Amino acid sequence: TLAPPQPTLAEARATLERVWGHPDFRGLQAAVVAEVLAGRDVLAVLPTGGGKSVCYQVPALLRPGLGLVISPLIALMTDQVEALKQQGVRAARLDSGVSLEDRSAIWRAARAGDLDLLYVSPEGLASGAMLDRLAELPLSLIAIDEAHCVSQWGHDFRPDYRTLGRLAEVFPGTPRIAVTATADARTREDIVRSLRLEGAEVLVDSFARPNLQLSAVRKESGSRAKTDAAVIALVRERRGKSGVVYCGSRDGCERVAQALQEAGTNAIAYHAGMDARERDRRLERFLAEDGAVMVATIAFGMGVDKADVRFVIHADPPGSLETYWQEIGRAGRDGETAEGITLYGPSDIAWSLRRLEGRPMAEEVKAAQVRKVRQLFAMLDGAVCRPQAVRRYFGEAEAQPCGVCDICQDPPAMFDATVHAQKALAAVQRLGERFGRGRVIDHLLGKTRDVQPWETALSTWGIGAEAPLHTWRDVLDHLMFEGLLVEDPNEGKPLVRLGDPSAVRAVYRGERTVEVRLTPARVSAPR
Ligand code: ADP
Ligand code: ZN
Repeated sequence: TLAPPQPTLAEARATLERVWGHPDFRGLQAAVVAEVLAGRDVLAVLPTGGGKSVCYQVPALLRPGLGLVISPLIALMTDQVEALKQQGVRAARLDSGVSLEDRSAIWRAARAGDLDLLYVSPEGLASGAMLDRLAELPLSLIAIDEAHCVSQWGHDFRPDYRTLGRLAEVFPGTPRIAVTATADARTREDIVRSLRLEGAEVLVDSFARPNLQLSAVRKESGSRAKTDAAVIALVRERRGKSGVVYCGSRDGCERVAQALQEAGTNAIAYHAGMDARERDRRLERFLAEDGAVMVATIAFGMGVDKADVRFVIHADPPGSLETYWQEIGRAGRDGETAEGITLYGPSDIAWSLRRLEGRPMAEEVKAAQVRKVRQLFAMLDGAVCRPQAVRRYFGEAEAQPCGVCDICQDPPAMFDATVHAQKALAAVQRLGERFGRGRVIDHLLGKTRDVQPWETALSTWGIGAEAPLHTWRDVLDHLMFEGLLVEDPNEGKPLVRLGDPSAVRAVYRGERTVEVRLTPARVSAPR
């Protein structure tokens, strides 16, 4: 018998236009679709908003059989399936929220060939029963959405993804397409290995987002009230625009949302402490209402697709450059200008590192995560064009300065603070790592109140008297962002300790220089 002719890219374009109304593929979409149409496996790394879903939805409509989509979040599945149904695509989802009755109807439709796309969760698939039933059906393709969840090097590891490697054996002739917005090389390798995509073409799109204007602003140390006030001022300056404010904790999320509501903003809180129905309701409001501002924890994220989000503000920074890029990537999906503003401070890096401490994971994995935190903060407090720094981290070595971020617009003046750093590190060491930031600075300035003879006898007493207080604040903060100093929480009375010993030694020896911004942009009180 003759194999049916392979659908062509021209047919794929026609389907994209007819069903989605998009005149053409963009970026690497066409290349990805061509691979799948030809029946080959592919790993597609496209930035958030890059249009990953049509890469498998279009071929699923053109190839014979049912397209199986594995997706990690119920909310995300529901959104996609509803959108597809409205476009006239025969799509369904099988997750824990689907009734027994609906389930049988879905399986019936699948067997009758009346279904184009079926969305399932990795947990659902991990149960053998579902896999057995699927194995009896002709599949057009298998799409693995948010494929980085398979990697523990990534930022979103989900153990259930580990079982997806089996699909290679159960469905040997079916093309598998893995999609993700997480680009770092190690995660990519892990995806290929764990999902058994050895023969797959790996297509990585540019992560450039030229319509985003990025900036980062330092928080005033230790002042939550000032940070809240700064966030509220930033949102009010953008009144009437739709945006997202990310907070590091549920408490912070509730607090900022309430303050914004009191200031007359249509703010909606969203975090994992709310039940799924309540979260869905809030998501719907955000999508439907003009000028709505979502104040959310990281629980709000994957797959949220609102085209006209004009700003993303991080009241607290995320845990890695990957998450940062994904979260700011929720702004400006319509291609119009949008902003990403990140507030960050020394207590944030301390908090991020502390949270990792408590996680049960292999030492090696933990070390990789710690590095990710440091790389994020080094970018935030650095002097390199923001998109350029991130894209280089993602492997785009030729990325050029964007021209529109805060660094490009107003290049910060830097000074060589290597000697300052040596003095500060020595002071922390001589003081036995027993004091907080303020006290270390007082010691450097020779200004400690009620000073004891043991302290004035130290060689570091007053060695920093030539520099003003604010310089020492900047230097200490920066040393924390570089990981040369760490802030140990010590039950609310934070102590400053020395960081990575080999890095500290390199600074002492003058092998490593320390550059500090002369006047870092700081949060300001509302005008
Ligand atoms: P991702 O999952 O990569 O973040 P989506 O698949 O949700 O992105 O698509 C993001 C947005 O881009 C959606 O609004 C989608 O309709 C739109 N889009 C996708 N492909 C195209 C295209 N070829 N032309 C125009 N718009 C597109
Ligand atoms: Zn720039």
